[in-house]
Amino acid sequence: MAIDFNFPEEVENARLQVRRFMHEVVRPRFRELREQGQGGAWRGALGELRQQAREWGVWLPHMPEEYGGMGLGPTAVAAVSADAVKTRMGPYIINCQAPDEGNMHTLLHFGTEEQKEKWLRPLCEGTMHSAFSMTEPDSAGSDPTQVKTRAVRDGDEWVINGTKWFASGAGRAHFIILIACTEPDADPPQARNTAFIVPTDTPGFKIVRDVETMGGGGGHPECSYTDVRVPHANILGTEGGGHLLGQVRLGPARLAHCMRWLGQIEHALELMIDRAQKRYAHGSLLSEKQGIQWMIAESNMELYAAKLMVLHAAYKIEQKLDFRAEVSMAKHHVANTLWRTVDRALQVHGALGYSNDSPIAQMLIGARWSRIADGSDEVHKMRVAELAMRSYNETGSVNHSTGDLPL
Ligand SMILES: Cc1cc2nc3c(=O)[nH]c(=O)nc-3n(C[C@H](O)[C@H](O)[C@H](O)COP(=O)(O)OP(=O)(O)OC[C@H]3O[C@@H](n4cnc5c(N)ncnc54)[C@H](O)[C@@H]3O)c2cc1C
Repeated sequence: MAIDFNFPEEVENARLQVRRFMHEVVRPRFRELREQGQGGAWRGALGELRQQAREWGVWLPHMPEEYGGMGLGPTAVAAVSADAVKTRMGPYIINCQAPDEGNMHTLLHFGTEEQKEKWLRPLCEGTMHSAFSMTEPDSAGSDPTQVKTRAVRDGDEWVINGTKWFASGAGRAHFIILIACTEPDADPPQARNTAFIVPTDTPGFKIVRDVETMGGGGGHPECSYTDVRVPHANILGTEGGGHLLGQVRLGPARLAHCMRWLGQIEHALELMIDRAQKRYAHGSLLSEKQGIQWMIAESNMELYAAKLMVLHAAYKIEQKLDFRAEVSMAKHHVANTLWRTVDRALQVHGALGYSNDSPIAQMLIGARWSRIADGSDEVHKMRVAELAMRSYNETGSVNHSTGDLPL
């Protein structure tokens, strides 16, 4: 049988090494700080932990060795990320956190040698941070052909004007990969946009305000660009290639989110089971009640399907096969499984779940954006329906849009 759900030895070793690092180094360090009454000092410990991640050989799982990474492929990164996310700041400590992770892939794929040295290498070394900025307050982020931020060529420079928001991480970013409209009349409209690397110290760039969200503030600011000038050499990819770049970037980046969400779903289900087996009401433990068992069973089944979908989509990316349907389906399914499972875990915990004495309330807030960012539920369903109809119309079967599996 060609189907083998075991990882090769080197992938399994990488996964276990990350797990050991989190258990033996990161968690004990955070616990120590808490016990010393310095729980709030965990931020200060991040630099030291990132250094240790390098020493443990778990730095940068998704990047090639020439950039100091572990050189793992998408399937192996799925395994490693799902583990890393179970520890607070785990992905950041091993330098595979959003949005830097997606931007690294983008620079590796589209960057010139000069751009790679100037922007990708410092990201990989952890000395720079970045943001990706497409969404605008005044145009529908679901439809990038409507981007209003304009870039106009002036000699060897481009002049950029516009307003963006939800540029995650822009507040501390050294540069932003910005999607701007360069050819408003382009046909097809997908050729209207171009990606630019904009250093955040460029005159005319400004963080207008912090956008306070249900998850708090500090993460997703509104930014304005007023006559911001960047050299032509700062175009990332090709002129008019911004849409394509966004699609290429978002495929693996969406899956990377899924990988991290898998770890959270598992954590929520484990919390649910743990609580249900300890809480006693109406003559028995909660875990003995069918209503609660159904919540556990549904979460377990959905998580199982989620893991298979993520692994298969990662496999398709790794094999350089068409992954659009698989990534869209995985993104939608995993985001919704996360939302439902965390909600069920909250329900089983009762008032404790709603309180900040348990991590679940914060997990629920975090889970909500998963159904909006990187393609909202409805847009993914629209794409999946298109691909299903195309598969049926072109081949007489939906096999192509359901994974091209030999079933
Ligand atoms: C926490 C968070 C972080 C983010 N980080 C970034 C970032 O780093 N960079 C960045 O550029 N953007 C980021 N975003 C923005 C995100 O990508 C957009 O919110 C998303 O693309 C949707 O765009 P919009 O908010 O403008 O919604 P709109 O385009 O206005 O759509 C609103 C709603 O309409 C519905 N809808 C849209 N199209 C259809 C359709 N065809 N059929 C049916 N219903 C439809 C959907 O329900 C959608 O949610 C982030 C968002 C969040 C919440």
